[in-house]
Amino acid sequence: MKLLANNYWGADENTLLTIYRTLIRSKLDYGSIVYSTASKTLLAKLDVIQNTAIRLATGAYITSPSESLCREAGELPLKFRRLMLQSTYAARISADTNNPTRHQLYRPRYSETYTNQPNLRQPLYHLLNHNLLETNFPKSLPYRNTRSPPWTMNSPVIDTSLKAFNKDETHCDIIRNHFKDRISHYKKEEIIFTDASKSARGTGCAFLTASSEKRFKLPKDCSIFTAELFAIKKALECIAELGTSHPIIITDSHSSLHAIQRTYKDNTIVNDITDLICSIQDNNKSLTLMWIPSHCGIDGNEMVDAAAKEAIIDGHYTEVLTNYDLSNLCKNKVKDKWKSVWQSKSSKLALIDPTIHTKPPITQLRQDLVVLRRLRIGHTRETHQYLLRQESPPWCQSCNSQLTTRHMIIECQLFDAHRKLHNVSTKVEEALNINSPACLNTISFIKDTKFII
Ligand SMILES: [Zn+2]
Repeated sequence: MKLLANNYWGADENTLLTIYRTLIRSKLDYGSIVYSTASKTLLAKLDVIQNTAIRLATGAYITSPSESLCREAGELPLKFRRLMLQSTYAARISADTNNPTRHQLYRPRYSETYTNQPNLRQPLYHLLNHNLLETNFPKSLPYRNTRSPPWTMNSPVIDTSLKAFNKDETHCDIIRNHFKDRISHYKKEEIIFTDASKSARGTGCAFLTASSEKRFKLPKDCSIFTAELFAIKKALECIAELGTSHPIIITDSHSSLHAIQRTYKDNTIVNDITDLICSIQDNNKSLTLMWIPSHCGIDGNEMVDAAAKEAIIDGHYTEVLTNYDLSNLCKNKVKDKWKSVWQSKSSKLALIDPTIHTKPPITQLRQDLVVLRRLRIGHTRETHQYLLRQESPPWCQSCNSQLTTRHMIIECQLFDAHRKLHNVSTKVEEALNINSPACLNTISFIKDTKFII
């Protein structure tokens, strides 16, 4: 990486970070679920590897704090990365009833001892239940394969013909007319609409037939994808029960239909759906699944959409959580943990950018990007070389104050004219916002002032 990372002609940041993630981080990840209980001193040695790699990739100054480096690269600090890998592993084994270690997650032992003595090395269940989720680790749906191998099954008819119309460019009346045309040969009782809804209050889904409506309230952490699939599954169960001759299920979830269509299926609900479709087809009934765009004024879709929203409050509660939902829940919790740690820091970067989301920077020019990264982190050669030389901090003679990056960009009176000339923002957050064109003015200003960054 050192060979590729020259601050003037070197490879760009993205390429260097990809090299780090592929060749180095993958090795750090291997076995981290097991070695994460090692002593802090040993684990700190690994942090040095990640920090060096990020410093090379971003061109950050040698004295930059490690948490600012991770934030700039959009990389979880290794401590949180290990926690994320542990929790996603736990989510995976929670769905595998044959896994010999699964019971460890749900039968915690010596819990009180670990709570009373936080310095003890904690087992996975305690780490997840007490430090991450603050509740008992939820159970996900046990993984179940399809009854028959996928190559022996007949795929259902999946109609995505309405995809041909771009919703933004086509009037809803045209889409509605095409939809009516597609379903004109179906009887009313053969048509079933499904939909799901997710909001801050929870998740719900519903299906609607000519004569009835069924609503299901699902766990709050259940994803919209799982909820859409669950609505389709319930609709299929209803079809199997009623014995409808050639039913059609209409949904606005393209991802669900795509998952059902795939040959390799690794989702329990999709496997249940596949089995139900097979048993319906075995009874000589043709089944169609149709995609429609949402919010186009198609009556059945609007009604089932409203029912799915109401289901969040009054639906029949069903415990449905796949290992993917559980995995996403854990990932979000780890990110929240990092965010709260980041926001509690008083580093220069945390003060101007308290978020942990990274977006692609506005400039990809290596030299300019290195300048911006150093200014954002607040560690540059001009301001922090004194640490390496063991001298006293640099002082601005004209303003009689300590020389910092903030002082250079917005405060120092000596450069007022330069600032005006280059139209530098008066707010440091804006001047160093890597996603805003305002940062380009800051770069030209810094070049003009001849500060050594
Ligand atoms: Zn000054």
